[in-house]
Amino acid sequence: MSGLKRTIIRGGLESLYFTGAYSALERYVGGVGVILTMHHVREPRPDRFQPNRLLEITPRFLEGVVKLLRRSQVDVVSLDEMHRRLSERDFGRRFVCLTFDDGYRDILQHAYPILKEAQMPFTVYVPTSFPDRLGELWWLVLEAVIANNDSIGLVVDGKNRTFACASVADKRALYDELYWWVRSRPTETEMREIVRNLAACYAVDIAAFCKDLCMDWRELAKLAADPLVTIGAHTVNHQMLAKLPEKTARSEMDLSRAVIEAVLGLRPEHLSYPYGDPTAAGPREFAIAAELGFKTAVTTRPGVIFPEHSERLTALPRISLNGEYQQLRYVRVLLSGSATAMWNSFRGQEAA
Ligand SMILES: [Zn+2]
Repeated sequence: MSGLKRTIIRGGLESLYFTGAYSALERYVGGVGVILTMHHVREPRPDRFQPNRLLEITPRFLEGVVKLLRRSQVDVVSLDEMHRRLSERDFGRRFVCLTFDDGYRDILQHAYPILKEAQMPFTVYVPTSFPDRLGELWWLVLEAVIANNDSIGLVVDGKNRTFACASVADKRALYDELYWWVRSRPTETEMREIVRNLAACYAVDIAAFCKDLCMDWRELAKLAADPLVTIGAHTVNHQMLAKLPEKTARSEMDLSRAVIEAVLGLRPEHLSYPYGDPTAAGPREFAIAAELGFKTAVTTRPGVIFPEHSERLTALPRISLNGEYQQLRYVRVLLSGSATAMWNSFRGQEAA
């Protein structure tokens, strides 16, 4: 994300907070609840080049969020309870669901003790290739290649190109450019091929990220044994489903549920679409998830939950706790629905 975009988002959050507009707007745009998205919870790193910092919040910040939720007039509930409230249209009190994507080990280490202490339910969405140690966390490969080199050679549209990335500013700009270029490849196969080549050329061990950062099945079993924890499906290979043939997209969703059931002895009833934006999950995926019998499925499209979402349970929006904005006043604004309403140009109800 560019510095300018970050400044604009921060400015929007600040003005909604300091003008008090967020609390005035809440009754119009706050909906009935919020599903929060998180990824890593871990101590901050001092590195200046951290293009994936948006995916991590600190344990201290999570503790602050827990305290804030305790003080707010909301119920922190499991996805099953959210599903019940939506199905029975039981909207007496606002709810918040806490969800973590990808199954990182720091969730067990840092988030679990905090949420256990607070007795707050939460969900971990697991792509089964990660605990199977076959996952490719390609965005970290890209980060490592750019961090470790002063220039990078890459074949783009059939031409050899060299990108300079000696300074931190150049590294940030190049990461953004290459991340979105890789994401926009027409197929996952092509995308993965580019990253595998980069890893091979610049001696980055792709498999190590999965082993070092993601929970194995034994660790997941420990979490799954706690009734506070819901284990959700996040496909097998963490691919952009919308770019896959229909049959493959369907089996990515279905098979991941079968694998989790076989290993952990519980059948996931909730799904998170990898990446979750419109390029990764659309109407076809929402329909397949419903056909496969998932009770709910979440995107990363930003928004709060409205009563109308009970008709669209496999296309639910979420709100990300972004590591670039770790201020509790921003969380207040986000929970009110006013920030996402503004980003969605006040199309709140239709935004899924
Ligand atoms: Zn994910």
